[in-house]
Amino acid sequence: MNIDYHLYEAVIGLEVHAQMLTKSKAFCADATEYGALPNTQVGPVSLGHPGTLPVHNKEAVKYAVKLGLACQCDIAAHNYYARKNYFYADLPKGYQISQHTTPICENGFIGIKLKDGTEKRIGLIRIHMEEDTGKSMHDQDVYDTLIDYNRAGTALVEMVSHPDIRTGEEAYQYLTEVRKLLRYLDICDGNMEEGSMRCDANVSVRLKGAEAFGTKVEVKNMNSIRNVQRAIDYEIKRQIEAISKGEKIYQETRTFDAMKGETLVMRTKEGASDYRYFPEPDLPPLHITPEFIDVVKEQMPALPKELFHKFTAVYGLSEYDAGVLTENKDVAAYFETVLKHTGNIKAAANWVMVQVKGYLNEQALEIKDFVLQPAKIAEIIDLIDSGKISSTVASKEVFPAMIHEHHKSALEIAEALNVLQESNSDELQKIVDEAIARFPDKVAEYKSGKTSLVGLFMGEVMKLSKGKADPKVASKLVKETLDNK
Ligand code: ADP
Ligand code: MG
Repeated sequence: MNIDYHLYEAVIGLEVHAQMLTKSKAFCADATEYGALPNTQVGPVSLGHPGTLPVHNKEAVKYAVKLGLACQCDIAAHNYYARKNYFYADLPKGYQISQHTTPICENGFIGIKLKDGTEKRIGLIRIHMEEDTGKSMHDQDVYDTLIDYNRAGTALVEMVSHPDIRTGEEAYQYLTEVRKLLRYLDICDGNMEEGSMRCDANVSVRLKGAEAFGTKVEVKNMNSIRNVQRAIDYEIKRQIEAISKGEKIYQETRTFDAMKGETLVMRTKEGASDYRYFPEPDLPPLHITPEFIDVVKEQMPALPKELFHKFTAVYGLSEYDAGVLTENKDVAAYFETVLKHTGNIKAAANWVMVQVKGYLNEQALEIKDFVLQPAKIAEIIDLIDSGKISSTVASKEVFPAMIHEHHKSALEIAEALNVLQESNSDELQKIVDEAIARFPDKVAEYKSGKTSLVGLFMGEVMKLSKGKADPKVASKLVKETLDNK
């Protein structure tokens, strides 16, 4: 059967869970450190012992407000938690404390860049707070599922987008922006491989031009942003093919198999009524005062969008450069510190993007672990700009040597490597004179109009100076000397 995929359009809404980087859990003082031995961060509240009482973690509330402000959400002044009841082994209380009818943040949006360069806003329905569950491990034991309750009770926010996303590529952009924001705000490490950021994708398809949405399928268990895109692309194709064959789409939850690149049915969807939500009686409602919001606002770092604007409008960088330099907050800060030591903005941008980032990628390092201080990069740039070293020598020899001896100045390193260019005109003039004196007949040819012979004399100058002559200064001197003959 011939299927015209272009007759259809996908409708996608994403639910992102982000684990908050608070030191303690959402409702008790248990630690939240990642990678701790299983079941070592589990007090009575995390284990849901009868008679224990949860308490609010103010820091977690602050984080949620921070995120809400960054996404231009409305912050609810009064909100409370609910109990979402269900039975599962990784949920010792038998219910999850979550915000149901009163999410702390509503509305707002995340801006993504489309391929044609325009911005598209993906609306947010809500951002609410809740607690995480324990973690079931099915692959540790041959017969049994093991459970690590360290994660139980960790503070989470869930960001629920409007179904504004239309392609797997847009979902990829959206998640990249969300992760960048979480990291800029320092509220979540955004690591999908480790599960500290998780994404469920709701996908449906409809005929292009149709108003009504199709039946949605929720896809889970993607451990990278790329895999979310793959899962969505697969799901769109599967649904279009099913509909074209006259099959019905069932509202169900599917899991993504990254090896096969396919989605598989997990379960049919529960409705909200199955959870028997009711207000959590053990926690007082939250009142978010304007003063509290002001405190959070004061602690807000510059956001990626603001930095991007500054880098293009104030520093005059291209959108591409500004994009690369603001991908990561620490890289952006490093670049701005280089600028405190040099006025050559374009060179600073290039050095951070090419040499510094290249080295970090190669060594799988984060910029915070990079040994060279930003001022050192400025020193290299100054040596190039003052004609003391060529940019090739700077990146191929001086830069790597500085990484090994990062306490030395760029000038000391260049001296030790013996790569300083001769740009002192008196010294250079002697070399130029000598080079010209070697080819009297070529001087005559030059005088009779064969100006391309400058190249020959320049070659000789480079040879005599052992490659250290500053080419710009040397070629100027060669021409002047020849013209004055
Ligand atoms: P549920 O109660 O099943 O979780 P919600 O209405 O709360 O459903 O929406 C959950 C997510 O599904 C949101 O991100 C929303 O944008 C998305 N969504 C809702 N309807 C559709 C649809 N028909 N197709 C794709 N995504 C949808
Ligand atoms: Mg849902």
